[in-house]
Amino acid sequence: MKIIKIINNNQCSLSFEVFPPKASTSFDMVKPAIENIAKLHPAFMSVTYGAGGGTSSYTMKIAEDIRNCYGVPTMAHLTCVSSTRETVQEKIAELKKAGIQNVMALRGDLLPDMHPAESGKWDYSHAIDLVRELKESGADFCIGCACYPEVHPESKNQDEDIKYLKEKVDAGCDFITTQMVFDNNLLYNFMYKIREAGITVPVLPGIMPITRAVQLERAIKLSGSFIPQRFKAIVDRFGDDDFAMMQAGIAYATDQIIDLYANGVKNVHLYTMNKPEVARAIQNNLSSIISR
Ligand code: FAD
Repeated sequence: MKIIKIINNNQCSLSFEVFPPKASTSFDMVKPAIENIAKLHPAFMSVTYGAGGGTSSYTMKIAEDIRNCYGVPTMAHLTCVSSTRETVQEKIAELKKAGIQNVMALRGDLLPDMHPAESGKWDYSHAIDLVRELKESGADFCIGCACYPEVHPESKNQDEDIKYLKEKVDAGCDFITTQMVFDNNLLYNFMYKIREAGITVPVLPGIMPITRAVQLERAIKLSGSFIPQRFKAIVDRFGDDDFAMMQAGIAYATDQIIDLYANGVKNVHLYTMNKPEVARAIQNNLSSIISR
């Protein structure tokens, strides 16, 4: 099923992101966690492509397995910047063959030896190139793209970032998912600005439940997200106690999501970090609010 259909059905929904095994782990090590997350039957699940040290080779298999074994609609992420045109075309052909209807079209992070000034030499400079290629593939994919309420680190400023986001959306993106946000006000501001700029597609806020203090440092390093004092105080107070931090992190994420739903956001995407117990707890906290 196309994700845009799920998003447009006007009910509050919660979807989950999972990632493939890291280079140092095997597929069998992540499989039970991903299966247990799929058993929760979220609105849909997305599977990252080589993000955060994860390998890209299992993305499609995981997306197919979740859909075939658990009936959960899936979206496969695909990045382009470090790939050749040939590789990307092969991947698109595989997606078509596997009947995967939903693709998250991403540029991917630059490798250490890649400098943006040289992007003209690469087969793909930006996610928009991949969006165009997916549109031209004739497969009628539902396409998602990434957006950055706190501005992508390579952008000069928010106006420039939103200008390029609009071009990416106009090229054929059906919805956008945000980088993780811990302060909803930043998100509401961003949504106001993109609507002003004429971006009308649905926005799925990305919420990352922080259940361990060490995870917060990694998340900030990865995303540069602002951490509100209210959450800093939680980590200061409970960060040394695994159980207390887990409970407090789940409560904070739940609270953020309820605030989003209460303010008219319909679909929230949860970065599960492959933790079924966290996904389950948050879903349970919202059980009378979301439609599953
Ligand atoms: P782009 O849309 O290409 O934007 C990158 C930068 O270039 C921005 O600063 C933008 O303003 C600028 N820009 C865009 N178009 C132009 C243009 N035409 N000219 C000049 N500048 C331009 N990474 C992975 O490796 N695998 C994943 O599975 C993955 N999933 C993600 C999911 C989400 C929801 C998010 C938010 C990020 C994800 N990432 C993933 C990380 C992502 O790949 C990085 O953030 C990457 O640096 C940017 O990708 P993008 O698709 O947003 O790029």
